[in-house]
Amino acid sequence: EEIRGKIAAGEVIERPASVIKELLENSLDAGAKKIRIELHKGGLERIAVYDNGEGLSPEDLRLCFLPFATSKIKDLSDLFSLTTYGFRGEALSSIAQVSRLRIVSLQKGASLSYEVIVEFGKELDFKPSRIKEGTLVEVSDLFKNLPARRAFLKTPTRETAKNLEIIKALMLTHPEIEFQVFVDDKETLSWQGGDLKTLLENLLEIPQEFMHLSEFIEPPYQVTLLLTDTRKTFSHGRFLYFIVNNRLLQDNKLTKVFYSLLKKVYGNLGFPAGILQLSLPPHLVDFNVHPAKWEVRFKREGDVYQVLERALERHFQAKRI
Ligand code: ADP
Ligand code: MG
Repeated sequence: EEIRGKIAAGEVIERPASVIKELLENSLDAGAKKIRIELHKGGLERIAVYDNGEGLSPEDLRLCFLPFATSKIKDLSDLFSLTTYGFRGEALSSIAQVSRLRIVSLQKGASLSYEVIVEFGKELDFKPSRIKEGTLVEVSDLFKNLPARRAFLKTPTRETAKNLEIIKALMLTHPEIEFQVFVDDKETLSWQGGDLKTLLENLLEIPQEFMHLSEFIEPPYQVTLLLTDTRKTFSHGRFLYFIVNNRLLQDNKLTKVFYSLLKKVYGNLGFPAGILQLSLPPHLVDFNVHPAKWEVRFKREGDVYQVLERALERHFQAKRI
């Protein structure tokens, strides 16, 4: 059974960046307005995420690292109207299997905070603690009990690059939230919260005058496009972020479809960098396809692609780029 746990953990938790994604999504689910991330040695030595969200009760703190412990789904019908990132209660238990996990939390409205320490799946300690607000999740010695997986990871420098990539992309799903990122004790990223355009300018170092923002609404779909001017080349090349209902995706089909639409609409003007954001009612979309929730299935796929094409045509006409 222990082996089964470890294998399952490997599907969700591939590398430090997967831990970061899961922890940040939990902070966002907890309603955090401010998130601080600390990384040491590419996250292999330590990943810490502090948030000012609603926190966990002492009871939930002792349960949250067990398989299938989730506070987000109360019954099956919730699965069809998801508004949270998490729903499977898999992430913390997977992380707990392959690291030393420490969670410190103060539940909103409570006066005492607690912490739990779990080593490679076993609870070691549970005690009163000190934290001003919200939750700290600390993951150390990732994959120390799985040398084969650890060997498959890149150098700390390469892992740091991957970590920052995912942090930036997740920041773009919530531009209103304050972020601070420390890499080996050095402040590497800081964002006070603000609008999407300014955030993209800061993260990709692309001046706003070379970005165009457009919104296209065709109920029940809403498309926001923030794309760079293709006549200008930037160091980030043709990087595009795909965000559906505030979720960051890496969905091959959606990416392929969107690039072919770009080609159709933009002709030989090249490909922009930027963000495609799509919002639609939760019952028209399924994120429960891939263990790490990178992929999406649309109920009315044809409609979605048509709306995207019209949004892109409108964007292109309005900007004449
Ligand atoms: P899921 O997000 O699918 O519910 P996780 O394993 O990611 O599963 O987390 C398990 C549970 O732990 C969550 O349902 C939530 O109740 C709690 N939790 C985890 N991280 C936080 C956090 N930063 N703040 C508040 N609660 C959290
Ligand atoms: Mg989660």
